[in-house]
Amino acid sequence: MIERIDELLQNNKAFVADQLRLDADYFHKLAEGQHPEFLWIGCSDSRVPPDRITRTSPGDMFVHRNIANLVVQTDMNLLSVLQYAVEVLKVNHVIVCGHYGCGGVKAAMSGVHHGLIDNWLRTIKDTQDYFWKELTGLESPARFDRLVELNVIEQVYNLGKTDIVQEAWRSGGRPYIHGWVFDLGSGYIRPQTSMINNNETIREVCKFHNGSVGR
Ligand SMILES: [Zn+2]
Repeated sequence: MIERIDELLQNNKAFVADQLRLDADYFHKLAEGQHPEFLWIGCSDSRVPPDRITRTSPGDMFVHRNIANLVVQTDMNLLSVLQYAVEVLKVNHVIVCGHYGCGGVKAAMSGVHHGLIDNWLRTIKDTQDYFWKELTGLESPARFDRLVELNVIEQVYNLGKTDIVQEAWRSGGRPYIHGWVFDLGSGYIRPQTSMINNNETIREVCKFHNGSVGR
């Protein structure tokens, strides 16, 4: 057990040596600051490392991960990441990436009590209810796969409903929002939405016509 932790630190030393061999100034440049073009909102699942599956490098991607890649309107952690990425880092793309076989989605589909986490997964149950007509026509595992896809699409809408994104769309026509699903079985990313950078696709009731909420 201890050896595995030591291995990580040894790997880190090897990583530094490799990078310095390629570029002696690599870490000096890295320390100067970040200008990522992408915000990644993904699942915490250990099988979906965003940089590995997109071949991006340190500095390319601002990352937020939680169980089942949810965008919850009351999640101050997510909202803070989103605001910083959109307003300060000025990312051009926000990617919500789920994955087939997601344990969070599976747990939400079951009637089993899982404790605290059931509260977090509650919004997936709402999505399941909302699309029940479509889902009930599918057998497992197609139903499971489809709910993974619908969950991602819902999070794209949830992003578009935030005043942070709507204000950025209004003033700068960015960020583009993308809904993707990573297929663990093949390694391929399956896009679920077209690129969205305006609120035409956001349900009317969720549009903020006058800027921020409360105005
Ligand atoms: Zn997951």
